[in-house]
Amino acid sequence: MIDTVIQVESIICDFWASAPSNSLHLETGEKAWAMPHVAIAQGDDPLFLRNKEMIGPFHWTPEEAYALAFPDDPAPASELRVISYVLPQTQETRADQRMEKTVPSERWARSRFHGEEFNCDLRLHLAETLTRAGYPSVAPERLSDFGYQQSERFGLASNWSERHAAFVAGLGTFGLSDAMITHWGKAVRFGSVVSRINLPVTKRVYGEDHHAWCLWYAMGTCGACAKRCPADAITTSEGHDKQACFTYIRGTTAPFATRTYGTGATPCGLCQVKIPCEAQVPPALL
Ligand code: SF4
Ligand code: SF4
Repeated sequence: MIDTVIQVESIICDFWASAPSNSLHLETGEKAWAMPHVAIAQGDDPLFLRNKEMIGPFHWTPEEAYALAFPDDPAPASELRVISYVLPQTQETRADQRMEKTVPSERWARSRFHGEEFNCDLRLHLAETLTRAGYPSVAPERLSDFGYQQSERFGLASNWSERHAAFVAGLGTFGLSDAMITHWGKAVRFGSVVSRINLPVTKRVYGEDHHAWCLWYAMGTCGACAKRCPADAITTSEGHDKQACFTYIRGTTAPFATRTYGTGATPCGLCQVKIPCEAQVPPALL
């Protein structure tokens, strides 16, 4: 029987510790990620519906994502939990990335590419392990219908957002750059699984304030992430300019990483380090 967050965290951490894919594929043999952490959201948390209203009708609620995986036996939202986890960058990766000004470091590019491959494995491993144990589960980001559409308000947006799931689960809030600030900082990635399981829900200490842990939004100070962006894609007046960010990554950092490190994907993340929220919530806000 699985009915505690610690049991779920064990499934995730055991896989983190043993899966060969949790690797930067360097000669050092180091892992792609530091130790994961987990939080649980209620499937019928009203914030999921609010996210859908804000992003667009194509954006899934947990109930909709679950029904896509189990069309013959859908579940009411109240019986679902969203298990959200955070994968922090390692100290070595953050230290390397802090040295860079215009393109990502090799470790960062490797974590974005190989580390995300591991993250995909982890999503599926968690969903399959829980399903085998009698708790039908799905990783929405791994569904064949997962994709991107134009949101009137936010431009290109996906039909499942790991960051929004993490916010609802209590893992963190959005910063000036749109990235999430967690207790392990902003140099992180996320994954999630929707499961028909009765787990206790994590207390969301910031309530519904989606900017609570950003110094700019909370106190009008900082703005360090804006200064770190070589494409001027973050400003204190407008926040994150998704199009400028997209253009810089597609035109500069991704081709650089492919050419130089032999990695794929779309790494950048210069705005995620050398800032007060790199590896923590700014202490002034706690
Ligand atoms: S660097 Fe400063 S302004 Fe940018 S997200 Fe972090 S706390 Fe907010
Ligand atoms: S990820 Fe986007 S916003 Fe952040 S530094 Fe790179 S281009 Fe700028």
